[in-house]
This record gives sequence, structure tokens and C-alpha cells, in this order.
Amino acid sequence: MTHGSYNPYENAQSQFDRVAEIIGLDEATRVLLRQPMKEYHFTIPVHMDDGSTKVFNGYRMQHNDARGPAKGGIRFHPQETVDTIRALSMWMTWKCAVVDIPLGGGKGGIICDPRNLTENEQERLCRGWVRQLAKNVGPFIDVPAPDVMTNGKHMLWMLDEFELIHGGRFPGFITGKPVGMGGSLGRTEATGYGLIYTVREALKSFAMRIENTSASIQGFGNVAQYAAKLYQELGGTVVAVSSWDNTDKKAYTFRKKSGLDIPALFSITDPFGSIDKNKAGDLGCEILPEDAWIEEEVDILIPAALENQITLENVGKISKQVLLIAEGANGPINTDADEIIRKSGMFVIPDFLANAGGVTCSYFEQVQSNANYYWEKDEVLQKLDAQMTSAFKAVKETAKKHDLYMRDAAYVISINRVAQAVKMRGWV
Ligand code: NAD
Repeated sequence: MTHGSYNPYENAQSQFDRVAEIIGLDEATRVLLRQPMKEYHFTIPVHMDDGSTKVFNGYRMQHNDARGPAKGGIRFHPQETVDTIRALSMWMTWKCAVVDIPLGGGKGGIICDPRNLTENEQERLCRGWVRQLAKNVGPFIDVPAPDVMTNGKHMLWMLDEFELIHGGRFPGFITGKPVGMGGSLGRTEATGYGLIYTVREALKSFAMRIENTSASIQGFGNVAQYAAKLYQELGGTVVAVSSWDNTDKKAYTFRKKSGLDIPALFSITDPFGSIDKNKAGDLGCEILPEDAWIEEEVDILIPAALENQITLENVGKISKQVLLIAEGANGPINTDADEIIRKSGMFVIPDFLANAGGVTCSYFEQVQSNANYYWEKDEVLQKLDAQMTSAFKAVKETAKKHDLYMRDAAYVISINRVAQAVKMRGWV
């Protein structure tokens, strides 16, 4: 989704160009990797419950599949744009590469607002998306997953349509499926938990105890909820979270300086991650404006809602106490604000490393689905922890060795891995 003049694709390309220059990438590889390899743009006519027909716009971008099938979520959002999906597909390539899983990058979306669609309309929309792409996606081509405002229910409708078209059972076509229907235990928690594994490692590297730290989080959807839960279980104090209020059409920050009760907040949050502000007072929360989460005097900020949330307008509001920003969302800091943060010396765990737990667990789900053999939750989470910890350490090491900002260090690793795959295949 774009905001004002912000263009996430330009942001993703400028991040890429910067590191392509640092590593001296050749011209052909630069041209190949700074845009998606394939793009699908299509319409989806849907018979609505009131008898009318509405036509939605759907997309799938496959940025690169040199290291393995494209992989990435499908977003349902009224402000979704082509350039947002392009950017997200690029970030998926870097994300899979930085955690070293054998997958490429893709992303999809439909411009729609599922909050205003009935279950039946959503099902027809999901099936329509698959009908338009059935020959261009699949377990060995491109593997979709849930993202903003999509979930396991949508994935299963999509899987069912894919299997109807291809005549067989192909559970490895899509991930984020419900457990018991080809889903992996641990997938729901994976992105938020993965983020906290990297935060834990960062704090260790600063010789800080998590129990002595506090955090403020933007968003309270899938990523933010599980990040908050594990961070609190490890002893950290979550001082504030924010969420979108669909009635008031604005966001609020919910703060409790002594620490929010995360399980209690779960119980007053709807499936789209909106906290019921009429019940939040009973939990001792102060209800503050949208941007208040960024001004908190905490050690850790976790933007885990949407892209382009930390900008020139609000970057100056970040407290001097903040040591670490862990990007739960994709692209939450825009390029201008990132320059200021980079110069300030604040430690950033960049999005495509910090939130790679979701795709890592999706990869585990795909492996289990293709083998039709499923692992225990502890096994999944242990493997996730090992993968995230090792990726974090490799990025930190590269940053230290070459004196780089963490975002650049993560890009150096990813771009080198993808460029090498492209060269080994003889594409450039
Ligand atoms: P979600 O839809 O479950 O939650 C989004 C949350 O953001 C909700 O709590 C919503 O109320 C809140 N929000 C929306 N607008 C806001 C605003 N202006 N201010 C404050 N809060 C606002 O989505 P999610 O799955 O948690 O994803 C969040 C981000 O993380 C997205 O950028 C997504 O691409 C990224 N991400 C998600 C996953 C995953 O596995 N779910 C993986 C990697 C990256």
C-alpha cells in the first residue's frame, strides 16, 4: 500500500542499487535482479451475494526463482498497488536467501476489503485468483502463503481450487494451511517468534538481559501478537502496542507503563488485529493517539503493522533510550528516515531478516506437505530458532567485518547468494 508520494518499489530498488554498488555487481545481474522476472496482472469477476457481479484486480509477481520456487504471501487490501507487490516480491527473494532456504521470491494480492465481503464472496474471490494462475503457480513453481488480511481459511479454498483444476492432492502448493489440513504446527507463531529470536541474539551481543528491557510495538496482528507473547515470556516488558480501529478509521496506541497483559489483550482483539478500545480500559490501558507508540521511552521498537510508518515526519520522535529497532513489517522505515537512523548508530534488525521466521516455517510446512509427514511443534520451533539464530549471526558478523549497517550487511549476503545462483545456472 502506498502512502502519499512513497513508492515501496523505488525504496526496494534504491536499497538494492546501494548494495549492488558496494559489492560491484555486474550490469546484467543488476538489471535482472532489480525488477521481477515475471508479472501477472488479471481481473477476477465475482458473483456477489446480492446477485450483482463485481470485478476485482489480482496480481502475482515472481521476482526471482534461481534458488528455488518463488515464495510469498497474498494480500487482500483496498489500497494494494502494483508497485507494493513488486517491492514485496523482491524482498521475499532477499528474505529466503538471507535465511538460506532453497526458495525464491514472489508476492500476490487482490485489491479488495475482505472486511466488507461475506464468507461466500471471499471464497469465490480466492478460487477466482487461483483459476487465473493455476498454470503459473504450484509446488515446484511458485508457492503462495497468507499475508495481510488473508489466513488459513483462504489458503485452503485456494488449495482446493488448485487441486480441482490439476486433479490430485498437492498440499505443497500453498502454505499457511490450517493444522490437520497440511499446515505446520508453529506457523501461526513463526514470524513473531522468529523476530524475537533475532532480538534475543542482538541483546546477547550487547551483553543485555532481556528481562531488563522494554518494548513498544506498532500493530497487534499476527506478527505483533506472537512477538509480544514470546518477548514477554522471555521476561521483557511490552509497554505499548497500537492497532487500527476500523470504526474510527484511525489507529490508537494502548499503553501500560508497568507492562501490558498480552494474553488478556488477545482476548479483546478481533481476527484482523484490531483491539477493542471500549474494553482496553478494563485492562488498565491508556488509550493514546496513533503515533504514540513511536515516542515511548523503551529499549526496543518493533514496527509490525505496515510499510512506510517511520518517516521524516516522525523519526525525530524516537526516544534517545531506543537501542534497537526490529522491523516486523516489510519496509516500515522509509529511505529518508533510514538515513537518519543509520547515522544515529541505532541498531536495526532489517525486515527481511527480522520477519523471515514466517517464510522459514512455510518452507518447513512445504517440506512436510511434500513428504506428507508432519513434525511436532517443538521440533518446528527448534529448527526455526536454529535457522534464525544462524542467519542473525551471519549478518552481524558481515556487518562487523565490513563495517556495514545491518541492512546493508543482510543485502550483501542475500544479493551475493542470488547472484551466484543466477550465474551458476548460466543466466548471466
Ligand atoms: P495483520 O493483518 O495480522 O495485522 C496488521 C496489524 O496492523 C493489525 O493489528 C492492524 O490493526 C494494525 N494496523 C494497521 N494499520 C495500522 C496503523 N496505521 N497503525 C497501527 N496499527 C495498524 O498482518 P500481519 O500478518 O501481522 O503482518 C504485519 C506486517 O508484517 C506486514 O507488513 C506483513 O507484510 C509483514 N509480514 C507478515 C508475515 C506473517 O507471517 N504474517 C511475515 C512476514 C512479514
